[in-house]
Amino acid sequence: MQLIKAEVLGYCMGVRRAVTMAEEAVKAAAGVHRVYTLGPLIHNPQVLERFRSQGLDILDETELPQDLVSSVVIIRAHGITPQMETVLACKGARLVDATCPTVKKSQMKARSLTDAGYRIFLAGERYHGEVIGIQGYAPSCLVVADPGEATEKAEALYHSAPTAKTALLSQTTIAPDEYQRIAQAIHAYFPTLEIIDTICKATRDRQYALSKLCPQVDALLVIGGKESANTRRLLAIAQALGKPAWLLERAAEIPPGIRAYPVVGLAAGASTPDELIDRIARALTNRTLIGENL
Ligand code: SF4
Repeated sequence: MQLIKAEVLGYCMGVRRAVTMAEEAVKAAAGVHRVYTLGPLIHNPQVLERFRSQGLDILDETELPQDLVSSVVIIRAHGITPQMETVLACKGARLVDATCPTVKKSQMKARSLTDAGYRIFLAGERYHGEVIGIQGYAPSCLVVADPGEATEKAEALYHSAPTAKTALLSQTTIAPDEYQRIAQAIHAYFPTLEIIDTICKATRDRQYALSKLCPQVDALLVIGGKESANTRRLLAIAQALGKPAWLLERAAEIPPGIRAYPVVGLAAGASTPDELIDRIARALTNRTLIGENL
C-alpha cells in the first residue's frame, strides 16, 4: 500500500498560536493561579488530555464559578462574545486572548458594519463557537446555515426592510462554493449586497490540497477531531469526490480493511497535531501496528 500525504495538512496558524499561548500560560501560572480555557481549546482529544494533566481545566460558560479571582482564562482561537469577556473580567479573571487574528478580523468587521447601519447575514453553523462569538459583535445579524435558509431570511427581511443596506460574512471554515450559493440567494433580494470574504486561507489551502490529492488515491483518511468543523468539511469533500473516506481521531481507529486500497491519501484538519499525523502515518506503513491500541 502506498501512502500519499496532502501537500498542506494539520495545525493552522491560529491553532498553533493558541496552543503555544496556552502552554506558556500554564507554565507561567504553575502552582500560583488556576488556568482555564473557556470551552475546549481545540477539537483534539489527545491535546486536551495532555493539557488537563498539566492542570488546564475547561470552563463551561453556562456554569461559571462565582468568582475567578487569581484565575487565568484563555480565550480559544474561535473567540468569544464581548459580553462574555466582560462577564469574565467582572469575575476577576485575567484573560489571555488567543482568538485567531483571522477570526478577530471577522469580529471587527461585524462590529464596523453594524455601526455603519448594515443588516448582516452570517453564513455558518449556528451553534459553532466562532459564529456565536461574531454574533456578539453584531447582535442583530441573521445566521444562515445554507442557501435555503438564506433565501428564507432574505425574503423576510426584504418584506420588512426592502431598502436595507446588507452585507454577508461567513464562518472562516465555510466551503467557498457553499458561500457563493448563499451569496446568490441573498443577492436575488438585495442586489447591492456587500459580500465580505472572511474565508480563512488555511481552510482553503487544506481543502484545495485535499481536492488535488483525491484523484491520485483510492481511499482517504482524514485525521482530526470529530467535533472539528474544518475536519468534517474535509471528509465531506472527499466523499463528494466519490472516494471512500474515514475520519480518525487516533491510530487505533484506522479501518482494518484499508490495506485493500493500493494508494491511500492522508489529510488532516487544522487542529490536528503533527505528532498524531506522524503516529498514524507510521502505523499505516507498519502492518503490525494496525488495530493495536495506539
Ligand atoms: S482555520 Fe483559519 S481562522 Fe480558524 S483558527 Fe485556523 S487560521 Fe484561524
